Amino acid sequence: MRLTLQLAVIDAEVTDLIPGAVLERIATDGAWFEGPAWLPDGSLIWSDVVQNRLHRWTREDGTGVWLDPSHHHNGHTVDGRGRLLAACHGHRSVVRREDDGTWTTLADRWQGLRFNSPNDLVVASDGAVWFTDPRYGIDNPQEGYGGTAELDGQYVYRIDPGGAIARMSPAMPAPNGLAFSPDEAVLYVVDSEDHTILAYPVGDGWTLGEPRLFAAETGRFADGIRSDPAGRIWAACADGVRVYCRTGDLLGTLRTPELTTNLAFTPGWDRLAITSPSAVYLVEIDPVSLRS
Ligand code: MG
Repeated sequence: MRLTLQLAVIDAEVTDLIPGAVLERIATDGAWFEGPAWLPDGSLIWSDVVQNRLHRWTREDGTGVWLDPSHHHNGHTVDGRGRLLAACHGHRSVVRREDDGTWTTLADRWQGLRFNSPNDLVVASDGAVWFTDPRYGIDNPQEGYGGTAELDGQYVYRIDPGGAIARMSPAMPAPNGLAFSPDEAVLYVVDSEDHTILAYPVGDGWTLGEPRLFAAETGRFADGIRSDPAGRIWAACADGVRVYCRTGDLLGTLRTPELTTNLAFTPGWDRLAITSPSAVYLVEIDPVSLRS
């Protein structure tokens, strides 16, 4: 179904990025859709965290169930070799789908203690996987297999290409979506309890410095974020998808019928997939404007 996209424009730049201003709804009936990712074959997959399965969409075949059970996967991304990575609430782990369809656990413990419930993840240019570990998957019984917190807080972690795991951030109230700037000089991290996006400077050896406040008042909700090639930050928020310029000023909002949970650009930057709790939308993007 095609819906007219309401743009709340602060800067006309936003209008240029989305020339068609149409939302195409490709899925409904979600309980809590999250974690969209475009696979190398051009299909889109995403999670239903609560109904414990993954869905897949293609233009030819439409939408169907792809993995059931999914062990309450939440966020997804794709690594440099085209493999799907998932933040798995159910197993409290970060997992990778191999070419033969089996899943490998990349991380499930920090110094012998189980993670809370990895929520979202991103791959850096060196192949390291960065992820957030809030408690939603153990605090909300419908979003995981339960259990209790073993760690003393909620942090950002990095799995280096050799498999070693490091704790990267100070404790945060609820770290959630994360994204690197195009030059990887900044790591943006959403805090879903403080309703902020923090910008951590990335130093030598992939260390994080003191964060600055990038965006405050993201509304009662902010979840997944993505950077575009020009360094704008696109954030899934309660009032839709907010587009921030690299200084943190809000350029505008793509207003959606319900709150948004996460988003993913195609590798060619010509389309944006947006998940809401009960629906998934596609929006055409102008890749030329996006790069400028
Ligand atoms: Mg999330």
